[in-house]
Amino acid sequence: MHRRNPDIVRRGRRLKTGYKGEGPVVYWMSRDQRVTDNWALLLAQQEAVVHKTGLLVVFSMQHDGSNINPAQLNFSRKGLTEVEHELQKLNIGWLEFQDSPDLWLPKFIHEIDAKIVVCDFDPLKPHRRLQKQLLENLKTPFYEVDAHNIIPAWTSSNKKEYGAYTIRPKLKRLLDDHLTDIPPVQPHPHSLSSACLQMIEKMHSPLLSPSTSEEYSIKPGSSQAMSTAISFIQAPLLDYESQRNDPCLDGQSGLSPYLHFGQLSAQRLALLVREKQLSHEITEPFLEELIVRRELSDNFCLYENNYDNVNGFTEWAQKTLNLHKKDKREFIYSLEALETGNTHQMLWNCCQLDLIQSGKLHGFLRMYWAKKILQWTKDPETAISYAIHLNDRYSIDGHDPNGYAGIAWSIGGVHDRAWGERPVFGKIRYMNEAGCRRKFDVKKYIASVLDRRDNR
Ligand code: FAD
Repeated sequence: MHRRNPDIVRRGRRLKTGYKGEGPVVYWMSRDQRVTDNWALLLAQQEAVVHKTGLLVVFSMQHDGSNINPAQLNFSRKGLTEVEHELQKLNIGWLEFQDSPDLWLPKFIHEIDAKIVVCDFDPLKPHRRLQKQLLENLKTPFYEVDAHNIIPAWTSSNKKEYGAYTIRPKLKRLLDDHLTDIPPVQPHPHSLSSACLQMIEKMHSPLLSPSTSEEYSIKPGSSQAMSTAISFIQAPLLDYESQRNDPCLDGQSGLSPYLHFGQLSAQRLALLVREKQLSHEITEPFLEELIVRRELSDNFCLYENNYDNVNGFTEWAQKTLNLHKKDKREFIYSLEALETGNTHQMLWNCCQLDLIQSGKLHGFLRMYWAKKILQWTKDPETAISYAIHLNDRYSIDGHDPNGYAGIAWSIGGVHDRAWGERPVFGKIRYMNEAGCRRKFDVKKYIASVLDRRDNR
């Protein structure tokens, strides 16, 4: 009798009991697009082994809006090619489908008489809507696994946290117990039945083919993610604290695209950092971002349904922004003017250009970029909708809780405190170009962005 590993079991939660069919265990992969270090795949495999049955991973594009760009799709798509090959070597089935899961998955699960369904945890509304539809239409037991956070989001806290200072002690208390080594996925001992394989063959509808013209310079895939992580830990990590806020230096890890698409496990990254046995002063600032800030963003989106609009702003922030809603704005820009980087401020225009060219904006500049959108649009409602539109459209790591929390922090005081009152911003923390000049060489940054544009 195969025993369940409790460390795998506690990463998930059962959302529904039901009829266990005679077919395979199905893992609906979405947010965590990797084979190695994936608790959801491990839980699905464990159940398949316990029930002596095959294991099938299904994936389909599920973005419900059109605000996803081809380069983001390609990044994901190319990473999935690696996933497919790795699964093949492990005797685990793979099925990709172009349509949204609600349109085909319930019928398919029924037809293959699945044993259980396992899915990724994702706090964002498009996923939650889909998950709800699937739960309503499936009779099969359904599990959700948080393979994205080190501590499952529902374990670290059962409510919306005020800020890093309230979630940090909770995470710290649970961290040692959860930051354990992650077991490898084993070659799967049970093959899929020939009837199931035929059904997969019939269903298979490959995702959009990657086109070489729509790509960022950052290379996709789990292997690339791992080597970028290792190089970062070997050297730049040592100077992370002193260099991360300077956009002219390569001081950040650049790992957010891999973390966003789940091509890299945050837990593995934290383990690699710990294994290096560097001083607390060196590792702590990075782990604070990777663990506390990242898991705080998931907490915000999980417990705040209005994470993408002004109703999700902190109460004091809503009040102060309302009081200043009618303040005269010196400049008001349309979405088009912002999107094309046509404001009066060269630094801001270069941020937007940088974002479009590289699919990424430095963390420090992201704050400045979003705060100027608040200053240059007619009201906070417009500001948040433009900022989300542009961030999701052009950041390779967009459509992520970190993005919604980062924008809500910049524009709506979420996870921040009240500051001195001023026009338009009210008590929201203010940032301007002079502040940027005090932090880094603004001229050098502008020159580098323009140079890149001219040499394309
Ligand atoms: P590093 O500094 O190397 O940090 C390592 C990891 O820690 C990051 O990859 C990320 O997962 C996490 N992290 C770092 N800073 C933060 C933070 N402030 N909040 C939450 N997690 C953090 N992050 C995204 O992943 N996607 C987004 O779409 C996104 N949009 C943002 C928009 C605005 C307006 C702001 C202010 C922040 C946004 N962030 C976003 C958060 C942060 O800026 C990025 O995660 C970070 O700059 C990514 O670069 P990196 O991987 O080199 O980070």
